[in-house]
Amino acid sequence: MTVPYSCDDCGDARATIGEQIVHGRLHWSVSHSCAGTIVEECGRDELPPGWRAALLARAGTYRLTIDRAAARAAAMRVLRRRGVPLTDLAGTLTAGLSGTETEMHLAALDFAAGGVPTTVSGPFAAGGVPTTVSGPFAAEGASTVSGPRTT
Ligand SMILES: [Zn+2]
Repeated sequence: MTVPYSCDDCGDARATIGEQIVHGRLHWSVSHSCAGTIVEECGRDELPPGWRAALLARAGTYRLTIDRAAARAAAMRVLRRRGVPLTDLAGTLTAGLSGTETEMHLAALDFAAGGVPTTVSGPFAAGGVPTTVSGPFAAEGASTVSGPRTT
């Protein structure tokens, strides 16, 4: 996914952001290259805030909702493991999660591993073509995601 990038060395600059799931973790990369500047960054887990905001603005926000039929205790266990504070558990169970497509896909895999069915939908509020990604997702590697890719 290309996003606007402010580069001192070229006009109308773009950077490329990629996210993918490797061994159950989110790996991200950001790159821009021109005559004067080469940017190559990569890391694991959540993108740095600025890049994440740029990706969300360009690709849209995806949402994960926990199916009503899901066992509440099992869903709470997954949320706790993902670092959701106790005080936010009930609210998150109802509201679900939001983030980049890859973040939500990874979250769906976590929930699936915990036996919790979820649905990922999106993107919302972006210039992209409206599309829907739906679950529940099976174990890693077995799920199908349709719609615009983030790479
Ligand atoms: Zn440049």
